[in-house]
Amino acid sequence: MAKTVQDLLDMMEELDTYSFATVDALGFPHVRVISALHFEPDAIYFYTARGKNFARELDESGGRLEILAYSEQRNDTIRLSCKAERVPEDQQRHWIDVQFSEQSYLYNVYPGETNEIGVMYVVRDGEFEWFNLASKPITRECIPFGAGIVHEKGFRVDASLCVCCGTCEDVCPQHVVHMGSAGTFVIDEGHCLHCGNCFEHCPAGAIERL
Ligand code: SF4
Ligand code: SF4
Repeated sequence: MAKTVQDLLDMMEELDTYSFATVDALGFPHVRVISALHFEPDAIYFYTARGKNFARELDESGGRLEILAYSEQRNDTIRLSCKAERVPEDQQRHWIDVQFSEQSYLYNVYPGETNEIGVMYVVRDGEFEWFNLASKPITRECIPFGAGIVHEKGFRVDASLCVCCGTCEDVCPQHVVHMGSAGTFVIDEGHCLHCGNCFEHCPAGAIERL
C-alpha cells in the first residue's frame, strides 16, 4: 500500500537519531547527527544554538536541508529534502519549551535559561523518499511533504529508441524491467534500485537518466 506523509513521519518519530546535511557558503557539505526533533502532522521542528555553524549554514543557504533517517531494525531509509525556516520570533519560546519538555536531556546541554541561546527551525515543505532494501525486489516511493515537489529520479526507457533486445531485463539485479503492454520494455520505478546497469548495457541508448 502506498505510503502517506503521516506514515513516514510516524516511522521517523520512532527513531532516535537523524542525519542533517547542509551546505556552507563555499558549497561544501556538512552533516551532523540530531536527536531532538518534534513532530507535528504537517511540520518537523528542531532546535540548535544560534552560534553553531549549522544555524549559519541554514540561514545562509535559504534553509537548504536534507534529513536522513534509517531504521536498522526494519531496513527503512527515509530521506527528506526540504527547506527549513526559523520559527517566528514570537513563537520561539513556546517551541523551545515543547522541545525541551520532550527531550529533557537537552537541559544537560543547555541548563536553566541558557536555552535562550538557541533557535527553533521548522520544516513544512519538502520531498520525501522512502526505500526499503530488505524487500524483494526493493521498494521505493517518493511523495511530497506540504507544498514540496517530487522530482523524478532514476531511469526510464525511451520507447521510440528501444529495439526490444531484452538486455536490460537480463542485466537488472532486481528483475524490474519487463515487456510492457505497449510492446516495449518498461522499468517498474517503485522497485528500481537506480543502479544504472540497464542504462550502461543498453545497446541502443534507449534508457535515459532522469
Ligand atoms: S536494452 Fe535498451 S534496446 Fe534493449 S530492450 Fe532494453 S531498453 Fe530496449
Ligand atoms: S537502474 Fe538498476 S534496478 Fe533499475 S531497472 Fe535499471 S538495472 Fe534494474
